[in-house]
Amino acid sequence: MSCNFTIKHYEEICNIISRSRYKICFFNDDLDDLENLLILRHDVDQSLEQSIKIAEIENKYNIKSTFFIWLRSPFYNIFEKKYSDIIYEIISLSHQIGLHFDESSYKIENEIDLNNYVDKEVNTIKGFFNLNIYAVSMHRPSKWILDNDIQFIKYINVYSKKYFEEFNYFSDSRRQWKEGCICKKININKYNKLHILIHPFWWTKEMVNFDKRITNFIQEESSKIDLDLMNNIDIYKKWIKIYLIIRYKNILGDMMSNKVPIFITGAGAPGIAGTIFSIKNNPDNIDFKIVTTDFKDTNVGKYLSESFYKVPSPENEDYIPVLKRIINKEKVRVILPQTTR
Ligand SMILES: [Zn+2]
Ligand SMILES: [Zn+2]
Repeated sequence: MSCNFTIKHYEEICNIISRSRYKICFFNDDLDDLENLLILRHDVDQSLEQSIKIAEIENKYNIKSTFFIWLRSPFYNIFEKKYSDIIYEIISLSHQIGLHFDESSYKIENEIDLNNYVDKEVNTIKGFFNLNIYAVSMHRPSKWILDNDIQFIKYINVYSKKYFEEFNYFSDSRRQWKEGCICKKININKYNKLHILIHPFWWTKEMVNFDKRITNFIQEESSKIDLDLMNNIDIYKKWIKIYLIIRYKNILGDMMSNKVPIFITGAGAPGIAGTIFSIKNNPDNIDFKIVTTDFKDTNVGKYLSESFYKVPSPENEDYIPVLKRIINKEKVRVILPQTTR
């Protein structure tokens, strides 16, 4: 078993938890006088889709948890059908829904303001989904909330000191277990009460690094936008291929423009394969675009270049003017003469 952020390892973690001594509780269960407690919570920050897989696995191992949904999320709209279906599905798998509350969405000057806005959001969700909300988790809680141990009148604040002092708290924030993977904490008899925060967003089918997770997310979201545009704007459906070509051409264009065009004369010069190899693997990691020329078009360098031009032989009076045109066209920044005459 290796520790990573794959769904497979999540299942292994659930398996370990389910066979452990811990009693798995919700925040609103009667926790007093109980030993060996474990509370599992999920803050749904970027993606609700990923939550359903996590909810299913937990259900398979009889684990209950609370999914804190973000009413005013810039990433998902809980009232959109596919997302409201996910919320109903999570509830049907015996989990709870909590409110993920973002203070920065409001001008909050005191506890009365805070309670009013939290109430407003809870009532909106309760009214639409016909469910109970017992706990609130703050999205990036302010110093004011944390330092003063601010409580809500009607709901449990999961950022209360209690859940950090009586409980040992572990979180996968920023896709990192600061003190090592949670799977190693369950069976060591060191902790009496555990409060675990897991962000479903980080846990994926394939093992990917942080950057790849983010780029995959951007791609998934842009495909969704394409689909919605096609469903709502007929002309977009008709021209989608053209739009995609334009978009990717722009992206590729940007990528190319970050490369440094290097102009090598003599694609058939002795040792050219080694020269190009050294440029591509330069120790400074400069991303060069290899542009070559030769008066013959059967040579090795041509096949190792991103652009190749057949030019007159160096003795020809057109040689320099042709080279100048290529240099302008390719926006060449470096010239490496390799012609042997
Ligand atoms: Zn692990
Ligand atoms: Zn958050």
